Amino acid sequence: MQINGIHHVTAIAGPARRNLDFYSRVLGLRLVKKTVNFDDPTTWHLYFGDAAGNPGTILTFFPWEHVAPGRLGVGETEVTAFRIPEAAIGYWAHRLVAHGVAHEAPQKRFGETVLSFRDPDGMRLALVAVPGSESEPAWDNGEVPPEFAIRGFHGVALLLDKTEATAAILRGVFGFVEAGREGNTVRMRAEGTTQGGIVDLHAAGGFLPARMGAGSVHHIAFRAGDDAEQERMVKQLAGQFGLHATGQKDRNYFRSVYFREPGGVLFEIATDAPGFAVDEPAADLGGTLKLPAQYESRRAEIEAVLPALA
Ligand code: ZN
Repeated sequence: MQINGIHHVTAIAGPARRNLDFYSRVLGLRLVKKTVNFDDPTTWHLYFGDAAGNPGTILTFFPWEHVAPGRLGVGETEVTAFRIPEAAIGYWAHRLVAHGVAHEAPQKRFGETVLSFRDPDGMRLALVAVPGSESEPAWDNGEVPPEFAIRGFHGVALLLDKTEATAAILRGVFGFVEAGREGNTVRMRAEGTTQGGIVDLHAAGGFLPARMGAGSVHHIAFRAGDDAEQERMVKQLAGQFGLHATGQKDRNYFRSVYFREPGGVLFEIATDAPGFAVDEPAADLGGTLKLPAQYESRRAEIEAVLPALA
């Protein structure tokens, strides 16, 4: 059976130390992998997620010390949202303020309570209260009590000129259905998925194009159960939509192909296998720098140039 929904979200950050502090300490996510950008091993690639780094919970960053801020525009992810238990909204409103993070007043969207704020690089984030999520397992980092902790992604909102062509890809290839409309936003929901099951398509015709930089989401990855399912999706993209994905790239923890969707957002299709326990025990995820085989011989040189995390 096809597994639907978001696999991971990858964004661009400023200094790595500040990024790690915010996501692991303030938001209480688990650092599930400490590795390098496979295309530039002198920079970090940090992965945050739930206790096991399950698909649907993984937010990853390329932190660059001196990157210019991004500018939000069409063809880009506007908001990355996490799920929290309904009873946790008050806790989080207080916690964010206590850590110097300004947030907007809670709002109702699609019947759910949403708390919006930004990370230290200006990345737009939200916590969405989801009834029933309190019974799901949560990572306990000792700072956020498990009853209030984040339960993976709620989903993302994409800022687009028009929504229909993007909706057609989500419906046709990734198993989403339209779940409602509010204002200029169409809500798409992955059937049978809780974590990472929402993609909101926000139509904002006439808005400036995005400029990537710190605080920008670089791409959204959708799940494929295995290589065969990924290949079937690639064929469908080409045959039905005339879109051609890249060749498969081995990202160590999943295998990926990429394509630009019609609205301008970079999409990836990532396999669930093999996951983050492939090169370190599940109990020790994120504990030490992990390098792909092609860089292991350069470990000393790489460790010497990577910016300090603590
Ligand atoms: Zn990715």
